[in-house]
Amino acid sequence: MDREVRQVECMGCQALVPDLPASYGPPHTYLGTSPGCWQIYTELTARIVPDMTVRGLLADTYMVQHPGVSSRQAIQSVVRHLMGLCCVLEMNLSFERAVVVMKKAPVAEFTWLEPPTFLGPLTVVDLARAFEETIQPDLVREWALTTWQAWGIYHGVVRSWVEKALV
Ligand SMILES: [Zn+2]
Repeated sequence: MDREVRQVECMGCQALVPDLPASYGPPHTYLGTSPGCWQIYTELTARIVPDMTVRGLLADTYMVQHPGVSSRQAIQSVVRHLMGLCCVLEMNLSFERAVVVMKKAPVAEFTWLEPPTFLGPLTVVDLARAFEETIQPDLVREWALTTWQAWGIYHGVVRSWVEKALV
């Protein structure tokens, strides 16, 4: 019988992921993810993604489910990706429009949003399990929506930053 790869809890999304060496981890040190989780994510993003909006949701959701700890880069990353989710899920903006909003974001106003302890019921592990060769847009949307809801206490402030960028 094969020995199973040891599993560890991801420091970000808390899913059980393979215990891989740090060299498998993300290039961005501010991202609060475990190497095994990052591997699953990069494999997912290599699959066929039907459109740019789904691709955007995939990236935004992963980033806000792995916020890391307070640093200049982490603050900007978390807020920008929350803004991306707000644009697409709440305001129904196109991916292209969301990118413009994220670029025009009032970065100087950003502050560290202390992450909620629970970041949503779905993780990349659930997505990896369910996905075929092509990524399922409905599942990505559900993952994005439940993760956005987990950040509910910050919806007001994120929306205010989006509205400033829309002007
Ligand atoms: Zn994770």
